[in-house]
Amino acid sequence: MEDCIFCKIIKNEIPSEKFFEDDVAAVILDIHPVSKGHSLVLLKSHYRDLVSTPDKELAEVILRVKKIAAGIMKATGAAGFNLQVNNGEAAGQVVPHLHFHIIPRFERDGLTVHWPHSDSEPKTRAQIASEIKKFL
Ligand code: AMP
Ligand code: ZN
Repeated sequence: MEDCIFCKIIKNEIPSEKFFEDDVAAVILDIHPVSKGHSLVLLKSHYRDLVSTPDKELAEVILRVKKIAAGIMKATGAAGFNLQVNNGEAAGQVVPHLHFHIIPRFERDGLTVHWPHSDSEPKTRAQIASEIKKFL
């Protein structure tokens, strides 16, 4: 897609540190890494987000995510990793082309994920679950 920075990276129209590529995905180092080895798995086809991606391609790309994450863990000596997919501007998505962040984590790396949890009532949970069920 024109004007999509990740499509341009996939087509090598702009530079990146691309270290894996096959027919389904390309993998680059994030230009602003959260941790050493922070990588982005880009689906080669342009889809805005996870929900708009066809099942077959999504299934294919998650297999690449698994393979790349395992390689990153070995290469960096990471003790774990966070897998993040931002969907929509409200969720912090900046580049509207499906991509998976693999963020290697190290013991006592000081990184935190700030999710301010709240309390909820059983009745409220039941209502929300029932609303969601209607759309599945
Ligand atoms: P988001 O859309 O919020 O999931 O995140 C987009 C990510 O892409 C950010 O972490 C950016 O640092 C990264 N990014 C943006 N432009 C480039 C680029 N040219 N090369 C590598 N990473 C990029
Ligand atoms: Zn794109």
